[in-house]
Amino acid sequence: MSETIAAISTALGEGAIGIVRLSGSEAFAIADKIIKLPKDKKIKNIDSHTINYGHVINPENKEKIEEIMLVKMAAPKTYTCEDIIEINCHGGIVTIQKILQLCLDNGARLAEPGEFTKRAFLNGRIDLSQAEAVIDFIKSKTTEASLLANNQIQGRLSSLIKKLRAEILDIIAVVEVNIDYPEYDDLEIETTKTILEKSVSIKESLENLLETSKQGKIIKEGLNTAIIGRPNVGKSSLLNNLLQENKAIVTDIAGTTRDVLEEYVNIKGVPIKLIDTAGIRDTEDVVEKIGVERSREVLKQADLVLFLINSNEKLTDKDKELLKLTEDKQTIIILNKLDLETKIDITEVESLGYNHPIIKTSMTTYQGIEDLEKSIRNLFFEGKTKPKDATYLSNTRQVNLITRALESLNEAINAAQAGLEVDMVLIDYTKTFNLLGEVIGENTSEELINELFSRFCLGK
Ligand code: GDP
Repeated sequence: MSETIAAISTALGEGAIGIVRLSGSEAFAIADKIIKLPKDKKIKNIDSHTINYGHVINPENKEKIEEIMLVKMAAPKTYTCEDIIEINCHGGIVTIQKILQLCLDNGARLAEPGEFTKRAFLNGRIDLSQAEAVIDFIKSKTTEASLLANNQIQGRLSSLIKKLRAEILDIIAVVEVNIDYPEYDDLEIETTKTILEKSVSIKESLENLLETSKQGKIIKEGLNTAIIGRPNVGKSSLLNNLLQENKAIVTDIAGTTRDVLEEYVNIKGVPIKLIDTAGIRDTEDVVEKIGVERSREVLKQADLVLFLINSNEKLTDKDKELLKLTEDKQTIIILNKLDLETKIDITEVESLGYNHPIIKTSMTTYQGIEDLEKSIRNLFFEGKTKPKDATYLSNTRQVNLITRALESLNEAINAAQAGLEVDMVLIDYTKTFNLLGEVIGENTSEELINELFSRFCLGK
């Protein structure tokens, strides 16, 4: 029997409603100690999955703490598969903490971050990939990201992994038959043919998964974007235009050592994370901001470079020097100040521009901004599957596991093709099977599970 846990499940701050959640076998009993329902009804006697009016009372001195609505949800059809009580009180930090304290004083333990979801996993309601998607869902910054996370919560990745594991199990069965009846030579040839056919389709699925995960990462984490260019070409004007048109989502990354503000803009479904916006805005630090070294540093972290050039001037050596830095980067060249006379030689830009797409804009008349946004979107989504149709891996843990699974599958295929002993081949298939299992939390170490759930917010 696990301990009953309690936590504040809503964000701490002033709000219309705050929720304290209890989960565990003692949830109803604890709530009965601190909550008074009309006509002295007992929580254990009211229907499950109902919401009820009542008051939180301090059992020590009978002080009425707050008027509340209580949700009773009896196991197993609950988030954690355990008995759950949710106490809805007025938002505000003082009372809600008082209510939580009463729960703790009356037998509950403070939940660790993510412990409710961890219990849903340990009790078998969701698998690990679904639990991870819950974090993604909470942290989503765009509709696409939340759609993707939701697909995964619904078990899209899980069912694909289960299907592939079942197919590998079939292969293992075929190989084992061969080990059991080694005297049939024919069978061996037949075995190799069958397992190779089956392996190829599994291999394709794993490769697809790794390919779409790159797109998934962008949808989820945003595209690190650097705005680069000489002084006065219009970098901060571009930044401001992007921020104005596409409301910035500023996030304070709590709990990380990077105590910085990150600005995201949602550009046609692509979350763009602007790097070094301080550097662009900090007009006093002109020398620093134009430094090639500085640009090089910023470029290192960039997935996308927006490279600005002033079309009202001839291409300068500095432009060329900076342009050189973008050789290996996904870059869009922006010829800005289109409203002024064009003095730049566009063919020269084309010849030096590593085939980067070129967009003409004016930050003062807003010409070309729409083209730029489309170009950003096309760079990452053109011809690729739409987020709602795809199955994604949601983090590096999953990507690593699938990469390793693919490696051992390739080894198995090579071994089978080379005509190695079938029991040798079996080792690699078993390894692939186990690695895929880890994606959904089978054979996953307790340590890792604890680490994963600690990334959740409190009360989830
Ligand atoms: P930064 O140094 O690259 O960040 O450039 P700014 O954005 O500060 O722009 C430098 C100057 O150019 C400012 O006076 C802007 O108003 C002006 N500017 C920026 N974009 C345009 C444009 O498209 N057309 C015109 N005419 N002026 C622009």
